[in-house]
Amino acid sequence: MINANTDRYPELREAVSALCERFGDEYWRELDDSRDYPEAFVKELTDAGWLSALIPEEYGGTGLGMAEASVILEQINRCGGNAGACHAQMYTMGTILRHGSPEQKNKFLPEIASGQLRLQAFGVTEPNTGSDTTKLRTRAEFKGDYYEIYGEKVWTSRVQHSDLLLLLARTTPLDQVKKKSEGLSVFLVDLRGATGDELEVHPIQTMMNHETNQVFFSGLKVPRENLIGEEGRGFRYILDGMNAERTLIAAECIGDGYWFIDRASAYAGEREVFGRPIGQNQGIQFPIARAYVNLRAADLMRYQAADLFDQGVKSGAEANMAKLLAADASWEAANVALQTHGGYGFARDYDIERKFRETRLYQIAPISTNLILSFVAEHVLNLPRSY
Ligand SMILES: Cc1cc2nc3c(=O)[nH]c(=O)nc-3n(C[C@H](O)[C@H](O)[C@H](O)COP(=O)(O)OP(=O)(O)OC[C@H]3O[C@@H](n4cnc5c(N)ncnc54)[C@H](O)[C@@H]3O)c2cc1C
Repeated sequence: MINANTDRYPELREAVSALCERFGDEYWRELDDSRDYPEAFVKELTDAGWLSALIPEEYGGTGLGMAEASVILEQINRCGGNAGACHAQMYTMGTILRHGSPEQKNKFLPEIASGQLRLQAFGVTEPNTGSDTTKLRTRAEFKGDYYEIYGEKVWTSRVQHSDLLLLLARTTPLDQVKKKSEGLSVFLVDLRGATGDELEVHPIQTMMNHETNQVFFSGLKVPRENLIGEEGRGFRYILDGMNAERTLIAAECIGDGYWFIDRASAYAGEREVFGRPIGQNQGIQFPIARAYVNLRAADLMRYQAADLFDQGVKSGAEANMAKLLAADASWEAANVALQTHGGYGFARDYDIERKFRETRLYQIAPISTNLILSFVAEHVLNLPRSY
C-alpha cells in the first residue's frame, strides 16, 4: 500500500485495516454478484466502535474528531471495501446531536452508538424535485400528538437495513412561507412499527451493489416527540449535517483513489509486454503519477475541511471543495487503473471494474459536481445566484 507522507493517524489506520483484511476482495466481489448487504462486515465495524466515532463518549460513542472519522472510512475503501454501505450510521446522528432535545439525545444516541439501533437512512431527495430540495413535496400534517406523513422519496439508501430514518418534510406549504427554505422540518421516523399501508419501500437496482429505494408515505404516523428541533427550521439542520457528510465521502473517494493507484502501480510493474514491464513506458507511468498528484492535493483539502470542522469553524466551502476534488481524483484514478490493466481491467476477478462502478457514484451523490461549483461560485466568489 502506498504511504502518503501526509498520512495521519497511523495506529488508527492499522487497526481499521486489520479488521478490513478479514473481508477481502472475494467478500466484496461475491456481495456485488448477489447484491447482498455486507452484514458481517458492518456488524464487526459496529462492534469495534468505529461507526460511533463521532458520538461523544458521554453517549457511549468513541468521541473522535472528524479527521479521525474520515480516516476510518478512507481506510475501508483503501482496503478495497465500500464504506457507502454504512457510512451514514456515522454522520446521520449528527442532526440529533446538534439539534435534538436532551431527551432525544439520551434516548437515541447510546443505542445508535452501540449499534442496537441503526440510523443510516436519510430521506431528502424526491423524484420530481431532485437537487431543488426546498421544493420537495413530502408533507407532514400536524394532528395533535403526532404528524402524518404523505409523499414520496427516491434514492433513500439503506432503508431496509435501518431502524430509523431521518426525514425532511414540509410542515408549512411553500406558498405560505417568506423564504423557500422555511417551513421544512426534520423527523426521526421509526421504521420498525410501520405497516405496508403507511409506508411502501420499492428497491431500485443500480449499477453497483448499493441498497437504495423509492419510498412512499401514505399517512405514516410520527409521534410529536420525534420532531427534531423546531418545526419549520429543518432545512438549516440538514445543511448543518452536510459538511460532515461531504468531508467523510471525500475521504472515501480518497481511499478509493489510493486503492486504484496501488493496483495500477503494482500491475504496471509486473505486466510485461514487448519484453519489458508496461510501467516502464511513460505513457503508462505519467497518467498514474498525475492521478496520484491530484489525489494527494484532494487529500490535503479533506484534512483542511475536517480540521476546520473539528475546530468548530465554518467548513462549508472546504467540505464542498474536498468532495469535488476527491470525487474527481478517484474517478481519474479509476480510469487510469482500468486503462493500465488493459483487457483485464474488465475482468471481474481483478476488482477494478467493481470499484470503478462504485466510485463513479460520487460525481452525483450526495451532491452533484455542478451543484458544488454553483455553491463555490455563489457563496465563495460572490457571483450572482444562478437558480
Ligand atoms: C445510489 C444513490 C444513492 C443515493 N442515496 C441517497 C440517500 O440516501 N438519501 C437522499 O436523500 N438522496 C440520495 N441520493 C440522491 C442524490 O443525492 C441525488 O441523486 C443527487 O443529489 C442529484 O439529484 P437528482 O438525481 O435528482 O439529479 P437532478 O437534480 O435531476 O440533476 C440532474 C443533473 O443536472 C444537473 N443540474 C441540476 N440543476 C442544475 C443547475 N442549476 N446547474 C447545473 N447543473 C444542474 C445535476 O448536477 C445533475 O448532473 C442517492 C443517489 C444515488 C444515485
